[in-house]
Amino acid sequence: MRVLLVEDEVRLAETVRRGLVAEGFLVDVVHDGARGLLTAQTTEYDVMVLDIMLPRLNGYEVCRRLRQDDVWTPVLMLTAKDGEYDQVDAFDLGADDYLTKPFSFAVLVARLRSLIRRSAPERPTVLLAGDLSLDPATRIVRRGDSEISLTQREFGLLHFLMRHRGDVVNKPEILESVWDLNYHGDDNVVEVYIGYLRRKIDRPFDRHAIETVRGAGYRLVGTGG
Ligand code: CA
Repeated sequence: MRVLLVEDEVRLAETVRRGLVAEGFLVDVVHDGARGLLTAQTTEYDVMVLDIMLPRLNGYEVCRRLRQDDVWTPVLMLTAKDGEYDQVDAFDLGADDYLTKPFSFAVLVARLRSLIRRSAPERPTVLLAGDLSLDPATRIVRRGDSEISLTQREFGLLHFLMRHRGDVVNKPEILESVWDLNYHGDDNVVEVYIGYLRRKIDRPFDRHAIETVRGAGYRLVGTGG
C-alpha cells in the first residue's frame, strides 16, 4: 500500500512516515503543496495524507486541482483547526476524510486502511456448492483443499452451473451463455463438456454434484453432491 504524505512540518512528517513504514506502508513524503500536486498527478498512490496549511499551494487547492484533473486517489486531510466550516470545505473540495491535529497515530492508520478498502474495486463473491468453490476473481476452483485445474470452457461452464446452482438449466441456455451467440454447432458439445467437468470435480472425489435431469437438462446440486 503506497501512501503520499504532504506535510510541511518536517518532524511531524518524519514521525508519521516512520510509523506508517512500520505498519507496512510504502511512504513518499513531500513538504509543499506544489510538489504534492505534481507527485500525486504523476505517481499512483493508494491513499494520500494532505495537510491544509502548506507552502506554495494549500491542501484545499491541491485537492481541488487533483479532482479537476481526474485523479481520484483517496485523500485524508489534516487540519490544525477543528471548525465545522473547515470539514465542510475539505469534503466540498473532494477530500474523503479528515483528521484534526493533534491526532492519534492509531486513528490515522485505521482511517487510511478504511479509505483504501473503500476505494478497492468490488470483488466478485466466491461461489460455493458444498465443498466446491469457484472464485471468479482469481479463477481458482477447489474441491475441499484440492485445487482443480480447468480449461477456459470448463471454467465457464462450471461458473454458469454454480450461478444457477439448484436450478435445472437446459442445453440451449448453457450454449448461449458459455459458448458464444454465434455458435450454431451441435448442442451435444454441452454433454461432452459436462463429461469433462464430472471427470474433474466429481469422479476423483466420488461425488455427483452435476445431475442429469432427463429431457430437461442439468442441475448442480447445492450441496456439491
Ligand atoms: Ca502545515
